[in-house]
Amino acid sequence: MSNGGDYNPPQNTQVSPQAQQWFAMVDRDRSGKINSEELQSALINGRGQKFSDNACKCMINMFDDHASGTIDIYEFEKIYNYINQWLQVFKTYDQDGSGHIKEGELTQAFTQMGFALSPEFINSLVKKIDPNNKEVSVDQFIVLCVQLQCLTEEFRQRDTQQNGTITISYEDWLEIAIRNHII
Ligand code: CA
Repeated sequence: MSNGGDYNPPQNTQVSPQAQQWFAMVDRDRSGKINSEELQSALINGRGQKFSDNACKCMINMFDDHASGTIDIYEFEKIYNYINQWLQVFKTYDQDGSGHIKEGELTQAFTQMGFALSPEFINSLVKKIDPNNKEVSVDQFIVLCVQLQCLTEEFRQRDTQQNGTITISYEDWLEIAIRNHII
């Protein structure tokens, strides 16, 4: 919903000026909220392409504390910070600046980010993404991070004893899959 010419971008001293600037650019219809389409048109990956629908919806869902399908400036700043952190990690391991990282570098990157994933699991991920070169591009990396973050968060909420194991009902499992656009 546009409120015409009297739009005032949300201002708050708790939100960094960079995130406020970004928010104002991304919020094209000046509704004060960002939906997944707006996010998608704002995020350009390393090769000048947009992130997928799924990745953008997943990001919105992940940070949408109010289940509104949109994010406000506070939620946006969290996404903004995550993406910047992820890009920073990617750059650390993409030492030749090719925009791609190899399987071993991906393993190191995930370890640095606190995802405890076995080499076997990462091997199967990379094979699925790029069967020939076994490399991951910057946008594929961001999408992976979003999906891992979303699914890890779902898991953590259920892993009440924090022992790395959850018991899940069939329908709860399906709901996770739907919420995270796996099915
Ligand atoms: Ca908007």
